[in-house]
Amino acid sequence: MDLKKANRKLEELYGGKVRAREEDGCIRVEGELDDWNDIVAACVLCSTRYSKKHVVNDITFTGGKIPETRRPPFEDDALEGRRPDVLVIGGGITGASVARELTKWDLDVLLVDKEPDLSLHGSGRNDGQVHPGVDLGNGNLKHEYVLKGNRMYGKVCEELGVPFRRVGQYGSSPDKGARILVPLYAYWRKYVNHVSDTRVLNEKQLYELDPNLNPGFKVGMYNPSTGIVSPYELVIAYAENAIQNGAQVSLDTMVTGMKVEEGVIKEVYTNRGTVYPRLVINAAGVFAEDVAAMAQDRFFSIHPRKGTNSIMDKKTGHLVEGVTGVKRLFHSGPKNTKGGGIVHTVHDNLLIGPDAVETYEKENFATEQSSIDAVFAKQREAVSAIKQSDIITYFTGVRAPTFEEDFILERGRKTKNVLHMAGIQSPGLTAAPAFALDMAEMAVKILKEEREVRKNPDYDPIRKPIPQVKDLSPEERDALIKKDPDYGVIVCRCEEISKGEILDALRSPLCVPTVDGVKKRVRPGMGRCQGSFCMPQVIRIISEYTGIPEEEVTKSGRRGFISYGKKKGGGENG
Ligand SMILES: Cc1cc2nc3c(=O)[nH]c(=O)nc-3n(C[C@H](O)[C@H](O)[C@H](O)COP(=O)(O)OP(=O)(O)OC[C@H]3O[C@@H](n4cnc5c(N)ncnc54)[C@H](O)[C@@H]3O)c2cc1C
Repeated sequence: MDLKKANRKLEELYGGKVRAREEDGCIRVEGELDDWNDIVAACVLCSTRYSKKHVVNDITFTGGKIPETRRPPFEDDALEGRRPDVLVIGGGITGASVARELTKWDLDVLLVDKEPDLSLHGSGRNDGQVHPGVDLGNGNLKHEYVLKGNRMYGKVCEELGVPFRRVGQYGSSPDKGARILVPLYAYWRKYVNHVSDTRVLNEKQLYELDPNLNPGFKVGMYNPSTGIVSPYELVIAYAENAIQNGAQVSLDTMVTGMKVEEGVIKEVYTNRGTVYPRLVINAAGVFAEDVAAMAQDRFFSIHPRKGTNSIMDKKTGHLVEGVTGVKRLFHSGPKNTKGGGIVHTVHDNLLIGPDAVETYEKENFATEQSSIDAVFAKQREAVSAIKQSDIITYFTGVRAPTFEEDFILERGRKTKNVLHMAGIQSPGLTAAPAFALDMAEMAVKILKEEREVRKNPDYDPIRKPIPQVKDLSPEERDALIKKDPDYGVIVCRCEEISKGEILDALRSPLCVPTVDGVKKRVRPGMGRCQGSFCMPQVIRIISEYTGIPEEEVTKSGRRGFISYGKKKGGGENG
């Protein structure tokens, strides 16, 4: 972007309240505005898509209060004096996958996350789609890593014992000219953008694959390599395998500051003590810019973008067997969203969404009815049988794009011992297996500047999954129950989860003894009743296993109490 031109445009739009200047190889946009959307627009105006010359947003927002970052509710000295080779900040898919790749070497790896469990930000609040890369042009990191990551998924999920299915994605267009333009578009994606599985479907093929698609579509584009995965289960599996291979994961651990001297991070401050890492990996999602600032290496900005999804009752699962959506050839909606879709999840629900809304609140996970309405209006263009009355729950996640809309996977520009894995918006989940490999290699190369780094001779890529009783054959189920009768005690009737599976979750390498911790690992409470029936039993099992009194077992974290006294007969209010 030509800065003179950009400044003229900024003057025209915002009357001198905002200006851009170049400094240290990035573009700093400064001034004061009271509308967040104007701030985003001003920064976008100064940016160049996929450029490495990043826009840094230094515009003061006067139209509201940017909320303080949520912090763990305690301090202790559990990590005081720790000297890991690598400190990974962030326990989403980015941090967990790179931590696991690092354990292939003989390194002391410490991963911290400020939340009481892994995957509580973007990585646990997405569509779980393993994209084919069909909507990206060439020449950017997202394109490079989505193609590589997609191909790696089968092997990675097999090693980590995580369910993954290649269900295929079919997009159809109701627009005039679709019969000519869809094949042209598909040809472009296949031969120019190297998405080699791209195919064109005629009307008959389209309705054979997608019989519940609304009538009237004549042509579709199909990518059979599209997959689905449970994103939070994958993050947990990556982290558990890292732990099995020697890494330490410390939850409820927030990085609050750093001491940097002569371009080197010397000390990292957390609510659990000061840590002295040789190398820091910044995998902090929407907070990656804040972590970069702590490392005195802030050369990019993140503009948080919310997206809402609805989860439908399993009875609607038959409506769409893969991933479907309408592809508008002439896009008039907001840019930078794949436009969402209808996704058949790995657990056989349908997921409807997401939308894309800019926000200054990095942890605003609230779901607005307007988002659900907008998403349904759009997706009902493809399958009108989906109805809001079949929603069993919904969630909202916040994406972490830079203004250039590409991943940042590089060593610090001013600070030598930091690696940034930032701007990891969609398709970050898809790309993670591939960029984790490369970034772990980059980390090792940096560490080797100081001393030899050997392979970890005991590295084992295999994580044994918890058996899923409902998916076993009657014979297998019988054998398991004979070995351990707890697998015969069904606790969650919606999802058919046994007491044995819940105990397995509590015995896992990263035990999170809360209702949500167990739910994310083995799914009690994920079904139609959303835990109304099984939650008391889950609490009892957690209490019996850990010795935590029932009334002190929380939904999530240290403060999410569910009951505030003894239940009936206990003398206090339930
Ligand atoms: C609605 C939605 C749908 C999406 N759908 C898809 C999809 O279908 N397919 C796909 O490939 N991608 C999808 N994505 C993108 C994908 O979810 C992200 O690219 C990915 O999850 C980013 O992972 P991350 O680990 O970089 O960040 P996060 O998951 O946000 O993790 C960052 C972690 O850092 C921690 N942290 C932050 N600051 C600190 C600190 N100071 N100290 C300690 N810890 C800290 C946070 O607690 C958080 O856990 C979607 C995203 C959204 C929001």
